[in-house]
Amino acid sequence: MKAGERTFVAALNDLVDERVVLHGWATAVKAKGASCGISFRDRTGTTTVVDASNGSSAAWREDITPESALRVVGVVRAGDTQGGSIQIVAEAVTVLSRACAPLPAVGNRHDQGVEDNCLRLRSPSNYLTFAVQSTFEAAVREFLRANSFVEIHTPKLTAGGNESGSNVFEVSYFGTPAFLVQATQFYVQRAIASGFDRVFEIGPVFRAESSNTGRHAVEFTGIDFELSWIDSHHDVMDVEESLLGYALTAVEEEHGEQIRREFGVVVELPRNPIPRIPFYRAREIVNRESAAGPDRLTHREEGLLSRYAKQEFGSSFIFITDFPADDKKFADMRADDGNAVHPTTTRSFDLIWRGIEISTGDQPEHRYDRLQSQLARSGLDRGTCQDYLEPYYLEMFRYGCPPHGGVGIGLSRLLMALLGRASIRETTFVFRGSGRPVP
Ligand code: ATP
Repeated sequence: MKAGERTFVAALNDLVDERVVLHGWATAVKAKGASCGISFRDRTGTTTVVDASNGSSAAWREDITPESALRVVGVVRAGDTQGGSIQIVAEAVTVLSRACAPLPAVGNRHDQGVEDNCLRLRSPSNYLTFAVQSTFEAAVREFLRANSFVEIHTPKLTAGGNESGSNVFEVSYFGTPAFLVQATQFYVQRAIASGFDRVFEIGPVFRAESSNTGRHAVEFTGIDFELSWIDSHHDVMDVEESLLGYALTAVEEEHGEQIRREFGVVVELPRNPIPRIPFYRAREIVNRESAAGPDRLTHREEGLLSRYAKQEFGSSFIFITDFPADDKKFADMRADDGNAVHPTTTRSFDLIWRGIEISTGDQPEHRYDRLQSQLARSGLDRGTCQDYLEPYYLEMFRYGCPPHGGVGIGLSRLLMALLGRASIRETTFVFRGSGRPVP
């Protein structure tokens, strides 16, 4: 063993009778008498550390409190009974940082009003959540780059683009009002209009929504990609299902077993293709079981649709496509086939997984003349149109913008579905909600 070399608990089985150095935490301590020992944890697992001198060595007598940060030097011993667990017979235990006692109570992360503290975040399930996130994100990048998408970084401050007039955080921009950007859509489209062909961004999104649903944060990480030269929004769904298949397979390979152990769920891989059901048909399906209003899907109905997909197609992933057109959303591309039975729809879609909407996508309108007339019909105020939408949004389409479309995936929402968690607080490293501006 070289000086300074570190061994992880997960590797101990292969190191019986070897001398190792471990770094980690005392989970529980029984530091007196013949049976003295420390339950020891690092980010890969837990083991037991016993004292060769039965508690008489100076280092061992130090007051080792639970959650103290330790360095342990010792020899790996197989358990004394058959199937007994590995132990470390310690030669030296150094307290690198002593934890204050007693420890505070640790509640659930989704408890209202309970502040996150490092102890809660130190739990193995929390670490696994973000190890999974890291693997997923890396695989997304790998897939997109291998498919000729270029990663870009777009501004998060803007003085325009607030046509809805709501859900934005206002900030002072050298004395004049500006906003935190609530969607990267405009900027990824700008890259398309600039000839970038295929782009993506993984970055923060800000929404000043006070809804307390367990699915909404006011700051979250969005994975957005946009591609050019498409025939319809179905081309975008094709890319999304391949992307998810690739990235979730990477998660299954690296963490599938731990996810099963820690969260009791299997990593569900999407079918290829994921079933695609138009909105009007989705309404018919949920109306069989639900009396909710006709113009939108509630969370409960999203749950019903996922269950329907599971029963009919064997997988809970389902695309709901072709939402009804709304004049206020002037940028959406309309299907040209509206009629009295099925009103005009847009080339749009949501992806639901395990009852949770994890992404929204569309093919926006790229033809300048159509955008001009849709903007005129939108009822948006003249000032917004003149000061921002005409010079900055419509401008992108004046000089031959390719047909294009894209998707916005909410990373924490996706993790909720992937790990079967009930609240977005459990899948966001430091949660920002309407009543939670700290730490
Ligand atoms: P919802 O109807 O659930 O509020 P939305 O239709 O407003 O979502 P979009 O604006 O289309 O969502 O955003 C794209 C994706 O970003 C959503 O599918 C979701 O995964 C995620 N998302 C949206 N709003 C939030 C939020 N407040 N907190 C966390 N993730 C969000």
